[in-house]
Amino acid sequence: MLKDQTAIVTGGSRGIGRAICLELAAQGANIALVYAGNTQAAEETAEACRALGVKASCYQCDVADFDAVKETVARIKADFGGVQILVNNAGVTRDGLLAAMKKADFDLVIDTNLKGAFHFIRHVTPIMMRARYGRIVNISSVSGIMGNAGQANYSASKAGVIGLTKATARELAARNVTCNAVAPGFIATDMTKALVEQNSDAITASIPLGRVGAPEDVAKAVSFLVSPDSTYITGEVLRVDGGMAM
Ligand code: NAP
Repeated sequence: MLKDQTAIVTGGSRGIGRAICLELAAQGANIALVYAGNTQAAEETAEACRALGVKASCYQCDVADFDAVKETVARIKADFGGVQILVNNAGVTRDGLLAAMKKADFDLVIDTNLKGAFHFIRHVTPIMMRARYGRIVNISSVSGIMGNAGQANYSASKAGVIGLTKATARELAARNVTCNAVAPGFIATDMTKALVEQNSDAITASIPLGRVGAPEDVAKAVSFLVSPDSTYITGEVLRVDGGMAM
């Protein structure tokens, strides 16, 4: 279904990003996997994509670095010939109560989660606008919809991603570029491992569907939003949270 398309997936080495790489590769997309530092995990994911019959390469790049992202997008364009799909998934947490939150922790989370998505959109959209085709999906969070105590930095970054998504959707619609957000709830990855282990019962009780999500649950929603089945959807925020934030 996505044959001959190239997808950039940031944070593709592990967790949700890895599942997105594998799902899009299973649909036939070539994968440009962006990661921060975990080369072994990135290469393993790329190898698993190639086993599905597509081209896949890894690019180490800090999404928070505007110029590094520019250079990486240029390399990806040269390597793959074009970019039809962008999934802004790279993200970090630095949780803490507001009254004691360090400026550096606020800045890091905004720089990575919100500005990182802007950097990739900024450098990829000229390619998509020229081609008059593009599918962008930004990974937000239910924390950006509801707010979450102990996550002022993260909630602000993920609410910002929703605003960025809607503005991008409005600006680029005339060029046949759609932009949507996916807002996961609790998904079992390295990011949530400790929290889920410590508060398993309370977390499960807060989720109407009664279970923590799997990375594949999020990947399926992303796959739908970049597929030919969703051509009339833009500026949407799709929760994948077992009903948690309704
Ligand atoms: P994860 O397992 O911690 O993986 C994070 C990924 O982001 C890794 O691939 C990491 O690369 C990459 N990354 C981090 N900082 C980066 C940077 N500065 N530049 C480039 N890549 C960077 O996280 P996850 O749980 O899969 O989360 C994926 C996304 O979903 C995030 O945006 C997160 O906020 C969002 N989300 C997660 C949940 C959840 O419950 N897990 C819920 C809502 C939203 P390395 O492997 O190289 O370190």
